[in-house]
Amino acid sequence: MNGYGGSILRVNLSTGKITKEPTPLEMVRDFIGGRGFGAYLLYKEVPKGADPLGPENKLFISSGPLSGLMIPGAGKCDFTCKSPLTGGYASSSLGGLFTAEIKYAGLDSIILEGVSPRPVYLFIDNDMIELRDASRLWGRNTFAVEKELKEKLGEEFQIACIGPGGENGVLFAHVNHDYGRQAGRGGVGAVMGSKKVKAIAVHGTKSIHVADVTGYRQAGLTLFKACKDSEGLKPWQDYGTTIVVSWCDEVGALPTRNFSAGSFEGGKTLYGPYMREQIVITDKGCFGCPSPCGKYSRMKRYNTNVEGPEYETIGMLGSNLGIADIQDVAQANLLCDDWGIDTISAGGVIAWAMECYQKGILTKQDTGGLELNFGNVEATFNLIEKIAKREGFGALLAEGVKKAAKKIGKGSEKFAIQVKGLEQSAYATHNATAMLISYMTCDVGAHHNRAWAITYDLQVGRDRVVPEKVARVIWLQNFRPMFDVLGACRLQWVELGIDRDLYVPALEAVTGMRRTWEDLEKVGERIWNLTRLYWAREHEGFGREWDMPAPRFYEEPPKTGVTAGQITKFEDVNKLLDMYYEQRGWSSNGLPNPETLSRLGLSALAA
Ligand code: SF4
Repeated sequence: MNGYGGSILRVNLSTGKITKEPTPLEMVRDFIGGRGFGAYLLYKEVPKGADPLGPENKLFISSGPLSGLMIPGAGKCDFTCKSPLTGGYASSSLGGLFTAEIKYAGLDSIILEGVSPRPVYLFIDNDMIELRDASRLWGRNTFAVEKELKEKLGEEFQIACIGPGGENGVLFAHVNHDYGRQAGRGGVGAVMGSKKVKAIAVHGTKSIHVADVTGYRQAGLTLFKACKDSEGLKPWQDYGTTIVVSWCDEVGALPTRNFSAGSFEGGKTLYGPYMREQIVITDKGCFGCPSPCGKYSRMKRYNTNVEGPEYETIGMLGSNLGIADIQDVAQANLLCDDWGIDTISAGGVIAWAMECYQKGILTKQDTGGLELNFGNVEATFNLIEKIAKREGFGALLAEGVKKAAKKIGKGSEKFAIQVKGLEQSAYATHNATAMLISYMTCDVGAHHNRAWAITYDLQVGRDRVVPEKVARVIWLQNFRPMFDVLGACRLQWVELGIDRDLYVPALEAVTGMRRTWEDLEKVGERIWNLTRLYWAREHEGFGREWDMPAPRFYEEPPKTGVTAGQITKFEDVNKLLDMYYEQRGWSSNGLPNPETLSRLGLSALAA
């Protein structure tokens, strides 16, 4: 199979049995790779009602047909499982250098199933594959684990590991790699921890066969040249995602004090150019990336270094907590990475706790003595560690904002900023209806990367509730995540403006199969509908109610900033959903119609 490793590795942790299976041709045909493989395998293999942290759940790590090849940013793989945070579909993309090694070891997917009786790490060196004792690593933070395994096995091994957050079942624990790249969202690290897998160490030297070597080289060179010639390259390389901090602040999209506003009075000291000048010491990129967006920073005040912070982290651990000093934000970023928890969810749940404290819903007695005022840096650092250890008040926050708010009650559910249980990432959506419906309908909960539609809001009028906006979001949801299916980074298309059609000859030369973007979008739509079926299967009564945003976005207009007084009306929220369901070919309760499933070839799977 050109472009593929050809095998799926199945590791049964309960029995210690390790087997390889040929990658099924029909899975390649219908789901292509990466996120597509993950969604298909999850639906097919994890039984209905499985406990996300029990032996029946599985963790799927899947590369795509472009992963590991000389295509810009072709170093992405997808971590998929039943999410312990949402009880639905979790899919989180990991960059860095890990995926290329998976492909070079001849693998398309790794399936972790069952539960190991003792802490282990999975060792993969081409065909030598073993579960090795990790008792000495258990309890240690991510950076120390990566360092120790690299020293022991060699720099050529790439390591993905969990920290105490994953071991302790923090529902938004992540998997860390390359000292600062993460599969961050949905609690994939908690699932790995529940299986007692501390790390995966992988190294491979096998070739990836491509259908047309000359065509592949030509298509790859064309793509790299387009990146090199792009006017967007220099600013993107200088600032990475922090390029949008100032823009978000100016347009009222920067989450501020638990999304109560979209502009932050201390914003300027979080802007990309300020950060570059103050703390960035070098740039860092993933495998095969011509436009490294990672910023490596030094925090003199703390005598520490970190990869980051990038935009989402600045929004969620900075302005959303009322913290304006970029060194403090970067240090909070470092603590989350090292303890093994997602910066976005951590920022979301801590901001909620700060608002509870401000309103007197939580007191010092509840927080273990912490004065949880917005802007309290020490309390934030302290809480990150407590969450990872599930210690004291941290144990409540380790459950994520939806469950924590349900437990505390007293109206705090209204300002728990989440959809489907996933903390909303860093775009305030009081008056940005395309971005709002994007969050409401995202397949993993309130995450931005499926359909980043906020610029479209600005383009066509942010408060307009029109079918074109919904159509745009659906198109993005079908198309953008296809980069996660192919195993390549989407940001060269998004930020450098690379023509997406340049990927078509590359994919054809690699796999020998011609697929246009229209073909790929249909696969994207198939995956979207399959994951919707998964949510419906796992949650009785799943439907419209699950797509509702936090009431803050339709009940509480911000009091400050450029969006002061602006809101999306509740009736417009429902109008957006009506249009969305209709355009998707779903029922008025948001479930795929039989005709839609049939058109996408999903009827048999759904039966
Ligand atoms: Fe990685 Fe950023 Fe390059 Fe994408 S643009 S491949 S995320 S370094």
